[in-house]
Amino acid sequence: MINNTNLTLDQARRVLQRIYGYPDFREGQKSIIQDILRNQDTLGIMPTGGGKSICYQVPALLLPGTTIVVSPLISLMKDQVDALDGLGIPATYINSSLTGSETSRRLRGAAAGEYKLIYVAPERLETDMFVSLAQRIDVPFVAIDEAHCVSQWGHDFRTSYLAVAPFLRQLERRPRIAAFTATATENVRTDIVRLLGLESPKVHVTGFDRSNLSFSVLKGVNREDYVMQYLTRHEDQAGIIYAATRKEVDQVHQMIRRKGIPAGKYHAGLSDGERQEMQNQFLRDDVRVMVATNAFGMGIDKSNVRYVLHWSMPKNMESYYQEAGRAGRDGEPGECILLYQPQDILMQKFLIEQSVSAPERKQQEFRKLQLMIDYCHTQNCLRSYILGYFGERQETGAKCGNCSSCNDDSEVVDMTVEAQQILSCIRRMNERFGVTLVAQVLKGSSNKRVLEFRFDRLPTYGLMKHHSEKTIMDMIQLLIADGYIGLTDSQYPVLRLLAPAADVLRGEKQVSRKVREVKKRVARAGDALFDELRALRKQLADRDGVPPYVVFADSTLREIAEQLPETEAQLLAVKGVGQAKLTKYGLPFLEAVRAYMAQQALGG
Ligand code: ADP
Ligand code: MG
Repeated sequence: MINNTNLTLDQARRVLQRIYGYPDFREGQKSIIQDILRNQDTLGIMPTGGGKSICYQVPALLLPGTTIVVSPLISLMKDQVDALDGLGIPATYINSSLTGSETSRRLRGAAAGEYKLIYVAPERLETDMFVSLAQRIDVPFVAIDEAHCVSQWGHDFRTSYLAVAPFLRQLERRPRIAAFTATATENVRTDIVRLLGLESPKVHVTGFDRSNLSFSVLKGVNREDYVMQYLTRHEDQAGIIYAATRKEVDQVHQMIRRKGIPAGKYHAGLSDGERQEMQNQFLRDDVRVMVATNAFGMGIDKSNVRYVLHWSMPKNMESYYQEAGRAGRDGEPGECILLYQPQDILMQKFLIEQSVSAPERKQQEFRKLQLMIDYCHTQNCLRSYILGYFGERQETGAKCGNCSSCNDDSEVVDMTVEAQQILSCIRRMNERFGVTLVAQVLKGSSNKRVLEFRFDRLPTYGLMKHHSEKTIMDMIQLLIADGYIGLTDSQYPVLRLLAPAADVLRGEKQVSRKVREVKKRVARAGDALFDELRALRKQLADRDGVPPYVVFADSTLREIAEQLPETEAQLLAVKGVGQAKLTKYGLPFLEAVRAYMAQQALGG
């Protein structure tokens, strides 16, 4: 028997090369696409940035008829369709943002078989117009993106996803169905299969490693200073800063803006219009920095996000990896840094208490939170920890060489004396006060409260007067992070000495702190041309009204800057340049390369 499926995967690969300009599928994509082509229901679990879209787009191109893609976010469907348009793929979207007449126009186009893909919001599946359209046309395949939205266990539950299964039952010929998500937990997985009505699905969990991302956890650093330093040293790059609450987002956003750096913000407290506007500015590279709660990000396929900073610790590893994973989708290096503070634990516990009521679920959320806390404290390889968490077996002692545990290049500075001063001051204040007052006493402040309690008579008063109050507070934070000081679980947390503090006070234990400079991005060959190409990309993107990454990914610009293609054929060989992109944008980019080379030749 001729193996027909191999043939088909070859066809799929040719589509990938011709249309997308990518040489081959990633490992996980192959088996998923093969199963879809074999008419199997499929569940694809892949990390954020893993490449889920291609898993349904390529089969859609090979199958006859029109594929329906269910996608949760109306605000992003246009970008997705624009991206397909840029590739020369006939696609459209139908959602409530369109006028009645535009909707009818598209429905007519769909009925005439004009599109290979139609993106719809799940609500649309409940409308008679859409159901009757789907009954009339050939629908070989339905893809459900962000499928975890169907599960109440997930973090993005949407009631409207429950409309998918009834919709499918109304079709005369049941299409094959593929569901995609980055959420790997067992509960969510079973919910997806059951609630979407997948029939004996092939489940593929692809490797969760994102080798181009580096991971760091920084404890006890001054977050304001660190973030500001980071932003100034990465000013030409796009990044996201996640914080736990709206209030934190507002504060961080204000801090950044005050320093004159343009930044957007995004949280559930803003109006739809404001959020949309902020999101657009970020997608279009008009602002480089986005400060956001976890409300921001799902479905955002901006591929040139170069860093994701976490101002505070998220509630579990799923959320962390999903958010951090928004860096480096294009395969270029991305930096993921979590700024841990022990107070984050209290905040997350509070949020769980508030949002979860069922005792059994609360238990589970607390267990997951603990595993998140463990990530912040582990001395072992962070990547190993992450992969282990997502169920990939790790060799003990594995080292990735690209995380803050594997490459600790910080300078170690002794602070035993300062630690003793702080700890003894807390003791002398009877372990009844918070960070600020302790720091004020050590600084020797004559603040009203200090005098009221007569702390100016303590032997520790003014002991650290040569340090700024802020530095003293930073050191206290560090002692909290390292487990010498505990914080009470109250509205105004009080500092308490923990057991290891005794050893320090007796002089039996040294305390050190790590000083970690924000690294400047290392200059790379082709940087100058890369900057020019990036400016050109922005120009063309604005002209066409699409986000810049839709024109070309950063990785594509990189390759052009390094390989200096002079002919169309050479440009076509660059990863991410397919036939349609070549026709649309090839000429200006070739000209830019030529101009650059001529200039180099002149300049010697
Ligand atoms: P996900 O939806 O899984 O988070 P996307 O589908 O948005 O990820 O893909 C992330 C990025 O990876 C996109 O920029 C996409 O073009 C790129 N990509 C996907 N598959 C491949 C491939 N086989 N080769 C090169 N790049 C790919
Ligand atoms: Mg996606």
